[in-house]
Amino acid sequence: MTTSDPVKTYLWCDACRRSFTHDDARDGVCPLCAGPVRPMGKMSALLRGLMATEMVATDLRTKHRQLIRMIWTRNGRGEQYFRVLEPDMTYSKFEKQVTEIVCQGLEEGWITVSLPVAPSIDESAYQITIVDENRFVDEMQAVVEANRRKKG
Ligand SMILES: [Zn+2]
Repeated sequence: MTTSDPVKTYLWCDACRRSFTHDDARDGVCPLCAGPVRPMGKMSALLRGLMATEMVATDLRTKHRQLIRMIWTRNGRGEQYFRVLEPDMTYSKFEKQVTEIVCQGLEEGWITVSLPVAPSIDESAYQITIVDENRFVDEMQAVVEANRRKKG
């Protein structure tokens, strides 16, 4: 089997992490992102498609968020923020909302996280660093204020 035989191959887009038939991806470009596609054996393309799906599994995202929450609330830090801000909500709701802020900061780069390569007993190997402290304070206060306004 050659990788150029259109009957036995799919066309794989590395950017979208999915495969297309030769009819779907004419002119050798991806119908979704217009990037280059490359021929790949059908089984290989199907396996890669399965792996790509697994990578975005909801369960992993939830666990990832839990890990972030456990790191930023460590050593009573969550309760300390809660006592200072005195938000008109339960602690667990506050913790959830601040975790969302931390995840947003991580995505946008004004918060960073470092994790050990393998699970470690050394808790200090798990670190969240607030790069832009003003932004973090502003975002937390905004959550508290928005909640107060909602309650009137
Ligand atoms: Zn694509």
